[in-house]
Amino acid sequence: MARVLIIGAGGVGGVVAKKCALNDNVFTEIMIASRTKSKCDRIAAEIAQYFHNSKTKVTTARVDADSVPELVALIKEYQPVMVINVALPYQDLTIMDACLETGIHYLDTANYEPKDVAKFEYSWQWAYRERFEKAGLMALLGCGFDPGATGVFTAHHAKHHFSEMHYMDIVDCNNGNHGKAFATNFNPEINIREITAAGRYWENGAWVETQPLELSQDIYYPKVQTRKSYVLYHEELESLVVNFPTLKRARFWMTFGDTYIKYLNVLETVGMTSIEPVNFQGQQIIPLEFLKAVLPAPESLAENYSGQTCIGVQIKGLGKDGQPKVHFVYNVCDHTETFKEVQAQAISYTTAVPAVIGAMLMLEGTWMRAGVYNVEEFDPDPFIAQMNLQGLKVDELTGIELVK
Ligand code: NDP
Repeated sequence: MARVLIIGAGGVGGVVAKKCALNDNVFTEIMIASRTKSKCDRIAAEIAQYFHNSKTKVTTARVDADSVPELVALIKEYQPVMVINVALPYQDLTIMDACLETGIHYLDTANYEPKDVAKFEYSWQWAYRERFEKAGLMALLGCGFDPGATGVFTAHHAKHHFSEMHYMDIVDCNNGNHGKAFATNFNPEINIREITAAGRYWENGAWVETQPLELSQDIYYPKVQTRKSYVLYHEELESLVVNFPTLKRARFWMTFGDTYIKYLNVLETVGMTSIEPVNFQGQQIIPLEFLKAVLPAPESLAENYSGQTCIGVQIKGLGKDGQPKVHFVYNVCDHTETFKEVQAQAISYTTAVPAVIGAMLMLEGTWMRAGVYNVEEFDPDPFIAQMNLQGLKVDELTGIELVK
């Protein structure tokens, strides 16, 4: 049915490519393109090895996605109908520019972040709305798990459970164990920038700032465990408070183990998480980029990873009957199971599967509309139906307040 270009060949890119191959009725041809071609070739070889029944035609290419001319040349040569961008947030705008120049659709899983400022927000990408609308093209932003499935879950709450949503808590627990003293589950540079930034949440029409990891509470994650969780600023809060204006408070919580925080504190204290260049033996080095180079690659954690993730959205407000209600929609994903299916850990899996579902819904026309959108602006039903089919079972729990 469609030819799709996947940009990025890391932990997430590998699962995106494999899940596309497993849905060969939709993704008849895919190209995996990234900065290091050998990583693309390795994914293609794994598809040939593990999914030899797939009819998807897989090709690979090298591309520097910071360069619009390189992207344009590759797109003109391969002629895909859309790009699934699972490179880094730094490349979002160049890839969107290339899509506009060549007339193809766009999807990503993380909002744009300039490389030299540790700050992410949607404004840069929302500024492309008119250009995508005029070109008759669609850009779907933040279609991973969080952001992504969390926005879909919120839309599901609004559609099926609440007449008015008041308090939203997104919770993200990784209760897995990869056996390494310190490692991040997705790109270390992006992950550490996110965690070491100030916390922020929405309350009564304004953003409230906190120190990094200042607010915490114990949260029970159904089917998993009670874990200490910390308030972080997370990008989907920005679009969700705009798209659901009745929200009086919106927060995002993530679990971190004490050892993880101890390591992070040490690295921060000695300057290893800084993005300010330092002169080292006559060369300019960014400490955080160097740290990324010595930490384990996210995809390398997969083989011995055990345990589960639990990510969900709790809403408190007025139910469809006008009575006070609390409801939780969530998914539990098992690291061992995802390794068995696609040789990847659950963080890469939970990010990649929603990206593939988003692309599928766009290609089938179910979620196709010209312009730039966040996932919660579409009907959540077909997305959740696909999550249940594609390995991310969606569960619901009502009447229990997990987050106070
Ligand atoms: P990785 O670091 O494992 O992979 C990133 C890939 O992008 C690598 O293959 C890298 O190439 C490639 N890349 C980087 N820069 C360029 C460039 N200039 N041109 C071409 N390719 C480039 O990251 P992950 O797979 O863990 O994460 C991918 C994305 O998913 C990130 O944007 C991350 O923020 C997002 N994410 C979203 C989540 C969600 O739930 N929404 C959760 C987790 C991640 P090379 O190998 O050469 O470095």
